Amino acid sequence: MNAVQLISRDIGKAMAVQTKVIDYMTGFFVEKGFKWLLPVMLSSITDPLWPDPAASKMRAPEIEAYGSKLKLMHSMILHKQFAVSMGLDRIFILSPNIRLEERDRDDGRHAYEFTQLDFEIAHASMDDVIGLIEELISGLFGEMREPVGEILGREVPRVRPPFRRFTLEEIKAEFGDEDEASRIMEEPFWITDISREFYDREDPEKPGHFRNYDLILPEGYGEVSSGGEREWQYDVIIRKLRESGLSLEAFKPYLEVAKAGLLKPTAGAGIGVERLVRYMVGAKHIAEVQPFPRIPGVPAVI
Ligand code: AMP
Ligand code: MG
Repeated sequence: MNAVQLISRDIGKAMAVQTKVIDYMTGFFVEKGFKWLLPVMLSSITDPLWPDPAASKMRAPEIEAYGSKLKLMHSMILHKQFAVSMGLDRIFILSPNIRLEERDRDDGRHAYEFTQLDFEIAHASMDDVIGLIEELISGLFGEMREPVGEILGREVPRVRPPFRRFTLEEIKAEFGDEDEASRIMEEPFWITDISREFYDREDPEKPGHFRNYDLILPEGYGEVSSGGEREWQYDVIIRKLRESGLSLEAFKPYLEVAKAGLLKPTAGAGIGVERLVRYMVGAKHIAEVQPFPRIPGVPAVI
């Protein structure tokens, strides 16, 4: 595809739907008293995105500016925890993320530049966040039924909380894997207890189990949100960083704050905006809802 072909694509319907999706979601969080932060795009530390069963190994590109090395953000998870430490108890951000993944297979839902609606809540539990996302998603689906029907002739399902919950173990036993479960299920559902990045909280009563959760869309659209309760205790964080084989040096300011006892227990999640819009419009590929597609392995046209 060249620049003229890219500019000539019909992206209007998808952007009309996206406008309603972002309007609804930001309104939802503002209404609930969350503070709306602006994104950080460069920082000395970012999400390692490792280990994560869903991620391919990658490194955040770095630039040098004003005497420090700054990375392009993988996600704002660590900054969300810092923001709560500053006394902001409920926050959200429309956060642009850069993830230069190498993928052997294009599954239609990975972009290397995308935006998450990322939020975090002080002293919340996993049930609090799951309940909040269920309220958001069921409200959004209800709100979108009419416009999506009118704009695209597509039926957005009515969904009612609570959504079904499976542990990752149960998904493997019942469906084989997450993608197969997404193809078979007819409503959004949760996968919990996933061994991944150090900041997701290990269950203190059940070591080796994790108080985290992913929301999976039906019809094969796959994961749309990931979140968890977070670790906040210095010793636990150090142990888990070491177990993950990550350099402690790469998390220096984070460890300083943790050591000073300033991290708080929090829980939160990030919701992928393009993935949600892709599902709403029924697009085969995420590139169809990006005016300027950013697909791993594919050279950007503009
Ligand atoms: P994560 O915490 O890494 O799961 O990211 C949070 C959410 O952002 C995911 O649940 C997706 O909805 C979205 N997301 C993550 N990676 C990508 C990607 N490569 N392309 C598009 N959306 C993504
Ligand atoms: Mg995820």
